[in-house]
This record gives sequence, structure tokens and C-alpha cells, in this order.
Amino acid sequence: MAQIIDGKAVSVAVKEEVAAEAAKLKEENGLKVGLAVVIVGNDSASRVYVNNKKKACETVGFQSYEYALDENTTQEQLLDLVNVLNRDDRVNGILVQLPLPAHIDEKAVINAISPDKDVDAFHPVNVGKIMIGEYAFLPCTPAGVMRLIESTGVDITGKQCVVVGRSNIVGKPQSMLLLQKNGTVTICHSKTKNLKEICLTADILVVAIGKAKFITGDMIKEGAVVIDVGMDRDENGKLCGDVDFESAEKKAGYITPVPGGVGPMTIAMLMKNTLTAAKQQNGIG
Ligand code: NAP
Repeated sequence: MAQIIDGKAVSVAVKEEVAAEAAKLKEENGLKVGLAVVIVGNDSASRVYVNNKKKACETVGFQSYEYALDENTTQEQLLDLVNVLNRDDRVNGILVQLPLPAHIDEKAVINAISPDKDVDAFHPVNVGKIMIGEYAFLPCTPAGVMRLIESTGVDITGKQCVVVGRSNIVGKPQSMLLLQKNGTVTICHSKTKNLKEICLTADILVVAIGKAKFITGDMIKEGAVVIDVGMDRDENGKLCGDVDFESAEKKAGYITPVPGGVGPMTIAMLMKNTLTAAKQQNGIG
């Protein structure tokens, strides 16, 4: 039976670290870390995410600035706001909640955010820096996954790592981070042949495909570390992951549950990135 990786507990530890550093910045440098969160329209899931991010800011002692814009906001208006926030010294990090309404070009908005304030690490400059290993910010979800793997005490060096999914926000950067930690990385996607055989080679298996309970116990190597990024709904509408937890936990050595695994880590790492941004912008090492 696998040991459960407690994402909630690890995320609390990360937020405590960030809160302690934020308090020190305030005391020693008179600096209050600020995160601007921009939401456009009325998407209910986005509203929940934004509220959670604001709550996390309160927990760690940051100032959050919310900009809730109407569904009909034009791309030009949104770009104008991003430019204002780029110049606002109170704002250390800028997060534009995705998805945006269809009439707005997400890429144009991401590219407009100053790379120094791009705490989601979606800007091409930050993506490029991840490729060469000289990054300031890591995309929050893959960074959270790395922290969860670290919490198991399993050394990535020389391990067979399989990442299922190649999205720009999870699969690709995840693969780079595992590679930087000296894993031997295989990336799988919807056109991969023999997915089961490849998964069975994995000492560390990270799954981010968006398909409920798709990876089953018979695809998992005995004792593997299994990280489930998926946030899906099962046939009863209940939140579940991309991994079939019930069969997988019988094979894995360590496994993340859904909920309570990767999910809480994403926001914790966003707080960490915002702290890093504040320090960098103020020349604090
Ligand atoms: P995405 O952009 O839809 O990408 C899905 C990836 O999975 C694609 O690369 C796709 O391959 C691959 N895929 C789809 N079906 C497959 C199959 N049958 N076999 C192998 N690969 C397959 O999704 P995403 O944004 O990376 O998100 C993935 C999941 O993680 C979703 O459930 C999402 O909700 C969740 N998520 C959670 C968090 C969190 O904080 N916990 C954060 C982000 C995402 P192709 O490239 O060939 O199409």
C-alpha cells in the first residue's frame, strides 16, 4: 500500500516559509509584498480560484489587489490595465486568471505582462529561462509537483521519470524540471504508442492529461512515486484525478490524492513566486 503524499501539509509548510520571509521583508525593508489578480467575466471556477488566491495572500501577509472586469472588456482595455500594473511599484506580481473570454487573445495578454512580474511564469522569456535552467520563477503547478516529490525523500537523480501530458503549463515544464534534477525523462501524449509499457518503466510518474481515472494500477511499477495533477469529475460528479487512486495505491510507493495533493501546492508556489518577484525588484538577495 502506498504512502499518501499530503499536499495540504506540504503547502502549509511552503506558505509558512513565505509568510516568515514576507514578515522579515516588512520589518527590515518596510516592504509589503503585493499581488494583482485580474479576472475578466463571470466564470464560476475562475472566481473560486481568484478567491483562493486572495485568501492565500492574506495568510502569508501579502497585499492583494483585485481587478474584476466586465465580460465585455476589450483586449485594449485589458492591455492598458496590465501596462498600468507593470508600472505600479506596489504590485510585485501580476496574475491574469485564465481562461479569458473568447474575444481576447490570451497570448497577447501574457506577453504584455512584465517578465519580472510574471509570477505564473507563462511569459515566453520565463519559459525560455526554464529551458536553460536560469529561472527566477517556475510555473506554479510543476514547481509544486517537484516539492511534493522532494517531500518523499526519493532522489530523482538517475530515475526513470515519465510525464504523461505535454501542455505548456504542466507537462513540458514538468519534464524540464525533472531533467534538471537528473531524471531520465520520457514525455507521453495522446499520440504515444504503448503508453502502458512506458508508464510501467516509471520510477516517478507524473500524470497531467485531464481524463478521469485514466491511469490504472496495472500501468504502475511496483513502488513508484505517482503524482496526479488531474482535476476531473468522475461519473458521479465527484472531484477526482487522472489516476485511478484505488487501484494505483496498491502498486505505488507514494501517491498524491485528489483532492489534497497537487491542487493546494499550486497556490502555495504562486505565493513563493510573488515573494521572489518582490525581492528581485527591490534588489534583495
Ligand atoms: P491540456 O492542456 O488539456 O493537456 C493535456 C495533455 O494530455 C495533452 O498534452 C494531451 O496530448 C495529453 N493527453 C490527452 N489524452 C491523452 C491520452 N489518452 N494519453 C496520453 N496523453 C493524453 O491539460 P493541462 O492544462 O496540462 O491539465 C491536465 C490536467 O491537470 C487537467 O485535469 C487539469 O485540470 C489539471 N490541472 C491541475 C492543476 C492543479 O493545480 N492541480 C493545474 C493545472 C492543470 P496531446 O498534446 O497529444 O493533445
